[in-house]
Amino acid sequence: MKIREIFLKGRPLLSFEFFPPKKVENEHILEETVGHLKKYSPDFVSITYGAGGSTRAKTLEWTLRLKDVHGLNVMMHLTCVGSTRSEIDSIVARLTQEGVDNILALRGDPPRESGSENPWKDFRYAFELVRHIKKKGDFCIGVAGYPEGHIESPSLEKDTEYLKMKVDEGADFIITQLFFDNRFYFRFRERTERAGITVPILPGIMPIINLGQVTRFTEMCGASVPQSLIREMEGLSPEDTLKKGVDFAIAQCEELIREGAPGIHFYTLNRNRATEMILEELGDFRGRESGPSNSPKEGEG
Ligand SMILES: Cc1cc2nc3c(=O)[nH]c(=O)nc-3n(C[C@H](O)[C@H](O)[C@H](O)COP(=O)(O)OP(=O)(O)OC[C@H]3O[C@@H](n4cnc5c(N)ncnc54)[C@H](O)[C@@H]3O)c2cc1C
Repeated sequence: MKIREIFLKGRPLLSFEFFPPKKVENEHILEETVGHLKKYSPDFVSITYGAGGSTRAKTLEWTLRLKDVHGLNVMMHLTCVGSTRSEIDSIVARLTQEGVDNILALRGDPPRESGSENPWKDFRYAFELVRHIKKKGDFCIGVAGYPEGHIESPSLEKDTEYLKMKVDEGADFIITQLFFDNRFYFRFRERTERAGITVPILPGIMPIINLGQVTRFTEMCGASVPQSLIREMEGLSPEDTLKKGVDFAIAQCEELIREGAPGIHFYTLNRNRATEMILEELGDFRGRESGPSNSPKEGEG
């Protein structure tokens, strides 16, 4: 089912993001995680596309597995860095053939090793990929948004301008990079509204279960972890870190939903425990109406 049609129902969405395990011996972890999280009937699940080509075939394999074996509504991430137009075309054709309705269209990141071949082939930015996919079929297309600005971007204004280009090319909704201070999301929403972006902006939430891992990750992607939270978490046992991270995420999700976010997208890192703890505490927030902002109503498209 196309995700844009679910947004039209006017209630918040629930979605989970997974990555394809690199090693066969880790596949059971994702299978178990999906087994646990399925009971929350996510509106969709998404599968990341491996940077630098490493797990790309596995992305498609898992997309189809989650759709056909688990009966889930799926969205496949697709990056254009390092891919030629014909490579993209063959993946998109396969998605059409398999009945996958949703694609998250991304630029991706060039490989970090120096000396590798020029990563820029037929597409330079995600907006070009959106334009291209749009011509290939009636997909629902999501794109990435950055509440704190993309790490390479010269300014928030430029970032918003480029985001608008993706929407103008036909993106149906935005999923945000992770953030830990909701004010970034609310300011981002205001900026995008001022720029005339009206598609839903789904906040991406990552519960902290390991402080070191999250700070490394945020440094790489240009997001920030509040210093006060770092201080509170430093030195905690793994179990106490988990509890603190879960409580923090619950408060974040509560406020986002109350303030009209059109749902929550969980970066699960292929683990279920933290996400389950959060969802048990939050209850079924999808019973609540989406707030006035950021959620198209039937007929508005
Ligand atoms: C929800 C989410 C899921 C993700 N999933 C994956 C994944 O599965 N696999 C993966 O490898 N990566 C993934 N990423 C990371 C993403 O690929 C990187 O953040 C990447 O650096 C940017 O991708 P983008 O699609 O936002 O690029 P773009 O929108 O193309 O932006 C990239 C940079 O170029 C700038 N820019 C855009 N258009 C123009 C223009 N016309 N002129 C000049 N500058 C411009 C932007 O401001 C930005 O700085 C994900 C990110 C998010 C938020």
